[in-house]
Order: sequence, then C-alpha cells, then structure tokens
Amino acid sequence: MTYRFLLLFGLLFLLLFSYLLYLNPEFLTLRLAAGLETRGTLPFFILISFAAGGLGVLFLFVARSVFYYFYGFKERKGRRHVQQAVQEARQAMEYRLAADYKKAVKKLKRALKLDSGNQEIRQLLVRVRLEAGEPQRAMEVIEEALKNDPDDSRFQWLKVEVLQAMGDNLRLINQLMYLKGRYPKNVAILNLLVTGLMGQSYWREAIDVWQELAEIAKGAKNKKEQGEIAVQLDNCRYELAVQQWQAGEREEARQTLKELLDKNQKFVPAYILQAAMEEQDRQNPKRIEAALAALKQGYRRQPNAWFLLEGERLLFTESEKNEEKVEKYYRKAVSRYPDYWPARLLFAFFCLRHQRLERAAEMLLEFKKQGINNPLVKILAGELSYRQSHQLNEAADQFKKAIGLEEAPPLVFVCGHCRRYAPSWRPRCPECGHYNTYELSADLVTLT
Ligand SMILES: [Zn+2]
Repeated sequence: MTYRFLLLFGLLFLLLFSYLLYLNPEFLTLRLAAGLETRGTLPFFILISFAAGGLGVLFLFVARSVFYYFYGFKERKGRRHVQQAVQEARQAMEYRLAADYKKAVKKLKRALKLDSGNQEIRQLLVRVRLEAGEPQRAMEVIEEALKNDPDDSRFQWLKVEVLQAMGDNLRLINQLMYLKGRYPKNVAILNLLVTGLMGQSYWREAIDVWQELAEIAKGAKNKKEQGEIAVQLDNCRYELAVQQWQAGEREEARQTLKELLDKNQKFVPAYILQAAMEEQDRQNPKRIEAALAALKQGYRRQPNAWFLLEGERLLFTESEKNEEKVEKYYRKAVSRYPDYWPARLLFAFFCLRHQRLERAAEMLLEFKKQGINNPLVKILAGELSYRQSHQLNEAADQFKKAIGLEEAPPLVFVCGHCRRYAPSWRPRCPECGHYNTYELSADLVTLT
C-alpha cells in the first residue's frame, strides 16, 4: 500500500519537474551546455523530458530501496526468525527426549523470543516444565498463553494437568468447573471434578456430580459404570451425613442417611452412624432404645458382628444388670441367621464371660454340627473346657501356646476387600478406601 503510494508520488513528481523545466529552463544549466537557444521548442522539451525521466527513475529506485530497508527488511527477517524458532524447538525436543530439561527450556525460550506468537512452542514449554517437575513455572507459561487467547482450549486443559501436579485442589476444582461449563457432558471432566470435590470433603457437590455421571451412564446403558457410581453415591452420602452430624445438623444428617438407605439397605456404616447419633442425643430419654432399634434394623438387613458388639455395649451402658436382655438380643440374632457364625461365636463368648457354660457348650456343639472349625472356635473350645474343669487346665494352656497365643484372643476385624486387619470395626478401610467391608475375622491375628 505504502509502496504504491510512493510510486504514484514519484510519477507526479516527475511530471511536475519536467513541466517546471519546460517553463523555466534556466533552472538547469543544460541550455548553456547544449549551447542552444532553443527555449520553447519541441526538441528542447523532449531533451528535458528525457533528463527529468532519468532523474525520476533514479529517485524511484532510491525511494524503493529506502522503503525496503525500513519495512521489507523487517518482514524478511520475521520469516527467517520463524524458521529459526522451529529449528530451536526441534533441538529442544531432542533435549527433552534425553531428559535434559534445562537445555530444552533454554532452547524453547529462545524460540519464543524469535517467534513470540507461537502457541505450539509455548505448549511444548509447559510440557517440559511439567516433566522437569516445575509446575509453578508451567503455570506462568500457561497464563502468558491465555493472555494471547483466553479461550485456547489446549491451555485450559493443560491448566488442569498443571494444577494437579501442583496439588492445588481448590484452583483445580475452579478450573474444572469452568471446563464443565464449556463441556457439560464431558465424562473426563466430571470424573476429575468429583475426585477433587471428594478430596476437599465437598460431599454435597460431589453427590450432584455423581448424579450427573449416573445420568450419563444410564444414557449409555453402561451397567458396570452405573453400579460403580451407585457405590460412590452411597459413600458420599455417608460422608455427608457424618459431616452434617458433626456440624450439629442432626435433621439434615438423618435425611441424608434415609436417602442412602432407600438406595442401599445393606450399607452397614449408615446404621452404625444412626445408632451413634441416637445414643448421643442427650435430649432423648429413650436414646438407648432408639440406638438399639437402629442396630437391630441394620442387622436384619445385613448381619455384621459390630451390630452385636455395639448392642451388647449399649445394653450394659443402660444397666449393668442387663444380662438377660443381652442374652435375648444374641438369641434373636442367632435365630435370624442360624448359619452366620459370628453371631453364634459372640453369643458363646458372652455366655463364657457370664458363666453360662451350658449354653456356651450348646453353641460349640452347633459349630461341630455345621462343620465350622475356625481358630476362634478352637479357642472357644479350649476356654470352655478350662472353665468347666474349674482349675488351671493344662490342656487348654498347651492349646493356646500351640497356636501362639498367651492370652485370650482379641477379636479382630478384617477388610473384605484388601484383608487389612483392624482391632475394631471400621466404616471405611484406611488401606484400600472401600466402605462397608469390615467384618469379624476368623483368623488369629495379633495386632501391634
Ligand atoms: Zn481394605
């Protein structure tokens, strides 16, 4: 554009110059040089025109060179720089493969200096920074890139990775919320988001996201996925209930537990939590009964040894003379699930502790009939014969020593998923993170 303007300007100048010479030849000393007195004649006009034309062309040539020097040079230099930047980036890739991140970063920085608008190079720099374990620096590059184009989805995604590497869960959640707004049905975003929310104990929000994921899985008719999401929903509802209870929101917690149990009646921790909530409700004069009711309801839906041990503890909390009530509690538990050995075993231990040796012996006989012969039953048999003989029975002692136990065995619970042992029941396994997996263990384990 500028060049064309210059050309036009040059032509106008040429015309004007020749016209001026035509009108006033003294302007040039050509007349003297030619020795002619030809002012106003055609040959003179032609001569002057040629001279002016030559000057015009010379002027144009100079102008064009000047123009190129200031403008065109930059353009050509730019083209050369882009090529150089690509070259530097290629070398950086080689350093990156050799895990020499320092040199790779240096090369990429130089490449960016040569071609500052190149987002691919910037993307590469983020990756290298990440691999070098410098997420903070990677974030600086991303922020610079987003300044160039705030909607660049490549960098919006990279930001997620960098925030993960930084362990900045709150900013990560923010970023994922932003991405969720842009891609509402993206399962990868929702999964990352829900993990972040759970990590931050935002259970209510996590439940919402799990529900969205459940909808998507339902639409895709993915049964396996649906089952896994249902498990996660149970877990989150349970945690939400705990959180609400701890915040003093008793009614909300109760409502959450109800929602959970409506979906899954076999979720043992929910009943245990309910019982604990009832037990600690100081305003309720019948709090022990209410807690027991929760335990009994839980046991009916899904037998677990902890329901029985908690029930025994509660009844003895109410009154130390509640032996009859405890026995009744156990008898009911055994009759509801005759094949459930922990109920029988706990009942037998209870009988032993309270000198109901005949009933304990009955229980032992039942084990033999059922062919149950786990280590705890063996201990029970030894203990019983010791008590029955009313003296330090050598046999029982020997038996204990033989199986490596000096004292009566502590009851041990075990995670049904990863086999981690614990001295008492747990709602959630600290080892594998699964909920609702702890049950009485038949193994003999000494926990340290
Ligand atoms: Zn486990």
